[in-house]
Amino acid sequence: MALQFDPLRLPPHCQALREEVRQFLAEEIQAGTFDPKNPVVDIVQSKAFAKEVAAKGWIGMTWPKAYGGQERSFLERYVVSEEMLLARAPVRHYFVADRQSGPTLIRYGSEAIKQEVLPRIVRGEVSFCIGMSEPNSGSDLFAASAKATPIEGGWLLNGSKIWTSNAHNADYMIGIFRTSPATREDRRHGLTSLLVDMKTPGITCNPIMHMAGAHEFNEVVFQDAFIPRSHLIGEVDAAWKQATSELAYERSGPERFLETFDALRLLVDAVDAKSADTRLAVGLGRLVGQLHTLRRMSVSVAGMLASGKEPVVEAAIVKDLGTVWEQALPHRVRELAAFLEEDLPGVQALQQRLLHETRIAPKLTIQGGTTEILRGIIARGLGLR
Ligand SMILES: Cc1cc2nc3c(=O)[nH]c(=O)nc-3n(C[C@H](O)[C@H](O)[C@H](O)COP(=O)(O)OP(=O)(O)OC[C@H]3O[C@@H](n4cnc5c(N)ncnc54)[C@H](O)[C@@H]3O)c2cc1C
Repeated sequence: MALQFDPLRLPPHCQALREEVRQFLAEEIQAGTFDPKNPVVDIVQSKAFAKEVAAKGWIGMTWPKAYGGQERSFLERYVVSEEMLLARAPVRHYFVADRQSGPTLIRYGSEAIKQEVLPRIVRGEVSFCIGMSEPNSGSDLFAASAKATPIEGGWLLNGSKIWTSNAHNADYMIGIFRTSPATREDRRHGLTSLLVDMKTPGITCNPIMHMAGAHEFNEVVFQDAFIPRSHLIGEVDAAWKQATSELAYERSGPERFLETFDALRLLVDAVDAKSADTRLAVGLGRLVGQLHTLRRMSVSVAGMLASGKEPVVEAAIVKDLGTVWEQALPHRVRELAAFLEEDLPGVQALQQRLLHETRIAPKLTIQGGTTEILRGIIARGLGLR
């Protein structure tokens, strides 16, 4: 298989949209809706912010008008996401639903579920989480064992999911559950994707704190939680079919290289251009060049997704290169900051942010598929294994 990154540039109307998003964000910051200098997400702020973004028509903006969407392009969505991330806007309440749960429902959900749930996502009312990983199956999704046992009218869920981001605030989970054993011919067989209302009796969320001290993910335990038949997504026993396409959307966006970006921005802010050390200037130039290349690759994948292609290997490459780069960034910025005069304004803000970025860096190459797994996908896609 040949690798292909279409050499795409964002069209001019995207620039007009970018200006509109920047204006909106400046007004939101001015109004105190969020503080771009505070890296900790406040869920109350995030819910209020989702309503504001929804009012602009920027949640589900690529989706059919029949479900409340705007039928705008993936490239326009790319621009909106990029500006939100750069401004550190509190997108958590709607981001997962907008990026992957909504598109999954559009593709595989029943008409009744689409009518019921999608307009609520578009209005910024509901939040989603992803129930894939379990205590004994992370990278190996197809070893999942949380069970969905068929009963009259639906299924009873038992078992647990782990590392479930935002489950404690989410209204819904799209999760994979075992409905049949795997077969000798196909070890991916036997998992079913279900839409789970998180308020269903029999579901408990146990918090897990991460090393930066925040409560972002959870263990979710199911004890005889009833899920109606109408909440089936796709085919019984064939969840692997939809998981693959869902992951291509998850892997290639600007969120895969911008999570520690503030370290670079604050370094640039702190530099005194007139007297900067040459080694600092060279290091900065290299980082910006790498960022530019990653962005071109990521935009290219967005363009290929928009034109109906399935750039699974290219998306995996963006995620691998992007997350390894953003993970190393705080360390590389710290090395370059050694060339700054300590009394320059901005150095303290940089040091403080580096503390936070260094603590979140380890997770970047794990969430959404580990580096090793991505490299396996790339190797297989290239016919090397
Ligand atoms: C911040 C964060 C948020 C997350 N949010 C969610 C979420 O919302 N929903 C969800 O379902 N999950 C979530 N996860 C879980 C994440 O997707 C898993 O942690 C990940 O898939 C790895 O699984 P594991 O932790 O069980 O590690 P394991 O799969 O046990 O892997 C351990 C190590 O072995 C390596 N390894 C495993 N298999 C192979 C192989 N075949 N070849 C080579 N190396 C291999 C891995 O790369 C890794 O280094 C999140 C994780 C993090 C860090």
